[in-house]
Amino acid sequence: MNPPATPTAVPSPKPTIADLLGQIDPNKLNDHLNVLAGFGSRDVRHPAHAKAVAYLYEQLGAIPGVQLQTQRSAYQSIPLENIFAIIDPTPTYARETGWVIVSAHYDSISNRTPGWDPRTTAAPGADDNGTGTAALLELARIVAPQRSRLKERLVLAFFDGEELFFKGSAAYVSTLPKGRYQAAINLDMVGFNPIADRLDLLWYTQGSAQLRDLAIATNQKYAIGVAPLNAQFAADGNTIMDAAPFGLAGIPSIAFVQRYGENDATFPGNYSFHTVNDTPDKITNKRLWLKAAKLTLAVALEIALAN
Ligand SMILES: [Zn+2]
Repeated sequence: MNPPATPTAVPSPKPTIADLLGQIDPNKLNDHLNVLAGFGSRDVRHPAHAKAVAYLYEQLGAIPGVQLQTQRSAYQSIPLENIFAIIDPTPTYARETGWVIVSAHYDSISNRTPGWDPRTTAAPGADDNGTGTAALLELARIVAPQRSRLKERLVLAFFDGEELFFKGSAAYVSTLPKGRYQAAINLDMVGFNPIADRLDLLWYTQGSAQLRDLAIATNQKYAIGVAPLNAQFAADGNTIMDAAPFGLAGIPSIAFVQRYGENDATFPGNYSFHTVNDTPDKITNKRLWLKAAKLTLAVALEIALAN
């Protein structure tokens, strides 16, 4: 007679970072983008903005291991709502410093449309920044099951009011104690480029240089294939990205964006941004979008994953 089978816990092999990058689902990215753009507008002054807020809470709230936090603020009496999906190492985590934040703004604007009225004009914001928002939702889904392997808190920040010159992220950064974050990574407009799988990699201070170099090395290490990956120092006042308040506060901060600055041989110009025509059909490079999501996830995991 055979001895009774003893249930032994056979640890399943841990997925590598490369495995986790492969879990990013282009169909889910598309689905999120279509929903976000389908609300009509996510302008902070438009009634449909509330639909985007509800969608983010619904999607993030359905992921086990994600803690939701809200930060409300106001800019010129316009209410802003930042939404944070917090993924903590298990079983315990008590550190107050060294966290990692990945952000994307979910609000939109169409102020380049003739006759624009923010309360009524459509602002689908597919590329800007449905692409980044969808990528963050996928990151939440993929990282949350790995929280026993994290060594640092990962905060996924869905910022509001970026289109009013990063008012949501600035309101958040103003609350941060020194040392709270060791790295801030921002994703904004990453789906349009009919010519190249290009991303611009903005970095903000000398304190961001190491993070910039990690991003470049990570693109190579996992053969993600962003090319060209243009590192650009973004110290001037024209830093219209949620990465800026972090960087200017001295936090190591980078941003991935399809183009920063003038058009050139690897970027032909996206003339639908900030108009009613920033619709899902303008996401002309879904391969770039997927690569941007992968690069963001890989950099975050290189920092926050313990094993
Ligand atoms: Zn944007």
